[in-house]
Amino acid sequence: MSNLDAGPVTVIGLGLMGQALAGAFLRDGRPTTVWNRTAGKGEALVAQGARLAGSVGEAVAAAPLVVVCVSDHDAVHGLLEPLGDVLDGRVLVNLSSGTSQAARETAGQVAKRGGTYLAGAIMAVPATIGTADATIVYSGPRAAFDQHEPALRCLAGGTAYLGADHGLAALHEVAVLSLMWNILNGFLHGAALLGAAGVNASAFVPLAKEGVSTVGAWLEGYARQIDEGAYPALDSTIDTHLAAMEHVVAESETLGVDAELPRFVKALAERAVAGGRGGDGYAAMIEWFRTPASA
Ligand code: NAP
Repeated sequence: MSNLDAGPVTVIGLGLMGQALAGAFLRDGRPTTVWNRTAGKGEALVAQGARLAGSVGEAVAAAPLVVVCVSDHDAVHGLLEPLGDVLDGRVLVNLSSGTSQAARETAGQVAKRGGTYLAGAIMAVPATIGTADATIVYSGPRAAFDQHEPALRCLAGGTAYLGADHGLAALHEVAVLSLMWNILNGFLHGAALLGAAGVNASAFVPLAKEGVSTVGAWLEGYARQIDEGAYPALDSTIDTHLAAMEHVVAESETLGVDAELPRFVKALAERAVAGGRGGDGYAAMIEWFRTPASA
């Protein structure tokens, strides 16, 4: 399908995610040039109409918008290092994961080569790229985002601009990853507890999903308290939470399930109680997350 309003794009890095990104551009009817370090990964895309570049420089030169999606920022640096002024006047969107500091360093490297850097973070799996279920966030110069927003929107229904600081996209990705692993670890520990009594993990799913959704509904109120710095216990106090945490530790130990995770969770609450916050709501724990335990 050709889309006459769709400008050309380049995608560098054709791993699982890069292939999905290039596929979404092609489905949008955009002339799409692709390049990958290891030959062969572009074949399916070429069959769909992509043009395979012979080098990184040739790929960058092919479009005003260059999307890079490789393993990490070191790989991005390695790709950019040998380039001369070919980035001049182009916008490089980096969707490779990393830290906020790495994003700022890459922005500097791109600027030295005359390019404009837009940092992105993908909060989606390859199968959802190009659909309403995908979210990709961006940070860096607003004008570059606005200029290329129509192309970027075809990658994810949830396309959002976060601000001028190049580090913001990565920082949001890291925050969401922390959230994701804490939810998954809680699910796995719960499944291990139930499994000790012969209950299948699948049987746990309906209640687990309800739990995740219930906690999700608390977030606005918690966020307001964190932003205002006041934590009245509207539902239950940290003291009450701590008492229930002791049950989780005891149950784990009795059933022979690893109790390290609930012990750690309990230790976090104990710090808050020792700091005089036992009568406050759970959001008061933010004070202990803000500084390293050793500080
Ligand atoms: P992947 O399938 O392992 O692909 C990695 C890609 O990086 C390949 O194209 C690989 O090239 C390239 N690469 C690695 N080191 C390189 C180097 N030194 N020079 C040039 N190219 C290099 O990984 P992926 O799933 O596509 O993930 C790519 C990025 O997207 C990662 O930063 C990841 O965290 C992020 N991301 C992925 C997902 C996901 O669900 N997959 C979700 C969110 C974010 P070769 O083919 O030559 O090895």
